[in-house]
Amino acid sequence: MNFLTRFAPSPTGPLHLGHAYSALLAHDLAVAQKGTFLLRIEDIDQSRSRTEWETQILDDLDWLGCSWPLPVMRQSTRKEIYQTALVALWRRGLLYPCSCTRRDIVAAAAAPQEGAPLTGPDGTIYPGSCRPKTPTSPIAPLPPTGAALRLDMRAAQDALADSPLTFLETGIPTNGRPRTISTTWIEVHSSIGDIVLARPAMGTSYHLSVVLDDAAQGITLVPRGADLFDATVIHVILQRLLDLPTPTYHHHRLIRDEDGKRLAKRDDARAIEKYRGDGATPQDIRRMLSLT
Ligand code: GLU
Repeated sequence: MNFLTRFAPSPTGPLHLGHAYSALLAHDLAVAQKGTFLLRIEDIDQSRSRTEWETQILDDLDWLGCSWPLPVMRQSTRKEIYQTALVALWRRGLLYPCSCTRRDIVAAAAAPQEGAPLTGPDGTIYPGSCRPKTPTSPIAPLPPTGAALRLDMRAAQDALADSPLTFLETGIPTNGRPRTISTTWIEVHSSIGDIVLARPAMGTSYHLSVVLDDAAQGITLVPRGADLFDATVIHVILQRLLDLPTPTYHHHRLIRDEDGKRLAKRDDARAIEKYRGDGATPQDIRRMLSLT
């Protein structure tokens, strides 16, 4: 089987040290296995994505020594694919429209009968205000466009009753040695809940797009930051529902600043562009990241 890894930046800010670590790791893993490193631009959030950032990111990656086959996959060109998957899930009664605002969710989750509000990979766990009382087959052939669409996790559990929620992990905590990570539906309901699969402004979500795109690119190993570890079970559930393969995941350590805080897009001081301007070489960047 061909060994394919990827780096999937969102062009919403400069490439910083944390991204460089993810990209170089994915690149090095592909080279070590005589596989292929692919690039994908995650630009579904058109309100925040900028072509200037994309140009700079590609230039920085090239400077760091990464190379990839062309063309680069761009999420903004794949809206029909996301819509087709949403319609298929909708027709199986797995989605429901939700018009709650963030404030509504926080208020409903803080109601005394709910206990302390819990947070999951996407923030406050949805308390189910818009969820149909009993899962039913949708009457309309197409989902509504003016509301968010949530995945009904109870319906997903019914649909996947016999399918174990497992994936192979080669990153943290074993670093190299493959290990099976399993999750139970009880954990899914209590720590994830009904996540949003499509927002009206985007027509999709990170979770839905990433799963469809990794499958379309034939990715066999996904290297990404440990901050996404808790989201991986969402991706496994979507892969099972959409009949897509589950790649191996390699969650890696996060690059932090001197205060131990994880680097964010706004950390321009650690932008690769800035280091380049100060005369650093790609080898200097690798040394800073303990990648030799
Ligand atoms: N676009 C995502 C990010 O920049 C990639 C997440 C992933 O690798 O799945 O964080």
